Amino acid sequence: MCRNGRIASIERLAEATPTDYWIAPGLLDLQINGYAGVDFQADVVSLDGLLTAARGLRRAGCHRFLATLVTDAWERMLDKLERLRALRNRSPELTEAIVGWHIEGPFLSEQPGYCGAHDPGRMCDPLPERIRQLRAAAGDDLLLLTLAPERSGAIEAIALAISLGIRISLGHTDASADRISQAIEAGASGFTHLGNGCPQTLDRHNNILWRILETRSLTVSMIPDGRHVSPSLFRLAHRLLPSRALVYITDAMAAAGAPPGRYALGEMQLEVGDDQVVRVPGQPYFAGSALRPVDGVWRAATMTRMPWPRAWWRFSQRPAQWLGLRSGLAVGQRADFCLLKQTGNEMPTRIRVFCGGEEAEPSSNPHSRHRARSDRPGR
Ligand SMILES: [Zn+2]
Repeated sequence: MCRNGRIASIERLAEATPTDYWIAPGLLDLQINGYAGVDFQADVVSLDGLLTAARGLRRAGCHRFLATLVTDAWERMLDKLERLRALRNRSPELTEAIVGWHIEGPFLSEQPGYCGAHDPGRMCDPLPERIRQLRAAAGDDLLLLTLAPERSGAIEAIALAISLGIRISLGHTDASADRISQAIEAGASGFTHLGNGCPQTLDRHNNILWRILETRSLTVSMIPDGRHVSPSLFRLAHRLLPSRALVYITDAMAAAGAPPGRYALGEMQLEVGDDQVVRVPGQPYFAGSALRPVDGVWRAATMTRMPWPRAWWRFSQRPAQWLGLRSGLAVGQRADFCLLKQTGNEMPTRIRVFCGGEEAEPSSNPHSRHRARSDRPGR
């Protein structure tokens, strides 16, 4: 029951029937570069643009997200962060939705493949003053920084960032196992989009995938669209990593929640096809995704054959726990949740989204017409 926008009481059903509704906490996406035609990397982002993105995400089951900025000239990244933050602070609705910032770059590997779609010419080392500037630009907000620990000064930068309350995720990296261990010792706790941010061809004996799959203490994010990571690698990661270690992200850019076509990600023009894959024209690398968060849940459940509530947990409570945000549903919390109708053992066919106890504008069918390739191994 909800009262004044908050959860007043929660009663568990003694026995659930196959046609019951499920109540689930809203999804939390740690990596949103843009959405619904709005590019967060643009020099000018309007308040209306941010609201359009946040509402589009909410319609896709995602109440909260980390707005993400990718590699750019350092001063320009700081300017963008300050501007986006000022906009967010003008709107209570956005303050609820944008729970923090994910800075992906410019302290990444410049090596081909590892740099992904980031501009190596704008990458730099994580000097202590840059870490302090980042903290100042974000104020007290939650900050997640993805960096490559092999960069000069990175281990000291990680320790400094942690002391300033910045969470560190490793990514776009080819760091050695020793370097990864040093980064973890210094306080790094995450790994960004395993299976991406690396070359298409890797050394079969020793590569960043094996090194991370052996590392059991990091919270590892993966893009569950069946394309950024093959279904077999996706399943293997679930078998090899501890249950608490995996979370899902979309890494969505402006094309997510919008039709196929050409979209901007900062200064890059990217192509998005019917398959919802975002490509740099003429290059094999992906540049973010056009995946809707709720579709990521269904695709993850399809690929792994796990019950969909488990996939939902990896995209809601689990990332919230990692970042120290409120997770799950509890009496007294804001009544933000999703209502899902399930029939039999099928995945839910309808999602209704509630915000402060009020139903948000209705969503279309939650199932994307683009389903994950299951590519299941034969029995
Ligand atoms: Zn990336």
